[in-house]
Amino acid sequence: MKKKATAKAKAQSTRDRYADLRKILEGRRGEILSEVQGRIRGVRAEGSQTKLNEVFDAGESSDTDIQEDIEFALIQMKAETLTKINEALSRLEEGHFGNCFECGDEIAEARLRALPFAVRCKDCEQAREQAAERERIWQQRRGGSSLFMDMSS
Ligand SMILES: [Zn+2]
Repeated sequence: MKKKATAKAKAQSTRDRYADLRKILEGRRGEILSEVQGRIRGVRAEGSQTKLNEVFDAGESSDTDIQEDIEFALIQMKAETLTKINEALSRLEEGHFGNCFECGDEIAEARLRALPFAVRCKDCEQAREQAAERERIWQQRRGGSSLFMDMSS
């Protein structure tokens, strides 16, 4: 367990941290925006399809429709990421960003750099994944029995 900083030092470090986090989020947003714009140009200009062609030649279905679908799916994914970043930025404005939803601890900066809109610290995320995995195995063992649902209703 980490030692708690004094309230005053904590407030200052929180402000610094938020400034850093804002930079990370805005930086990521800029990267994604330019990548999306690049992709949209790529779809229109057909030039950047080369890599996708290489991938799909191996599987014989080098259909341009499929490639465009993939491009648009990627663009859509990026757009969803942008939405999450914007949400993270508004959480930052409200002072709710960068702390774990589960335990309230600060989420490590390295983790936020990799996943700017992470809402849980690494430990809680892992615990959650493990719980989900246990639940999945448990459900399989029970053959998908809905006993729990019956009990809770
Ligand atoms: Zn946590």
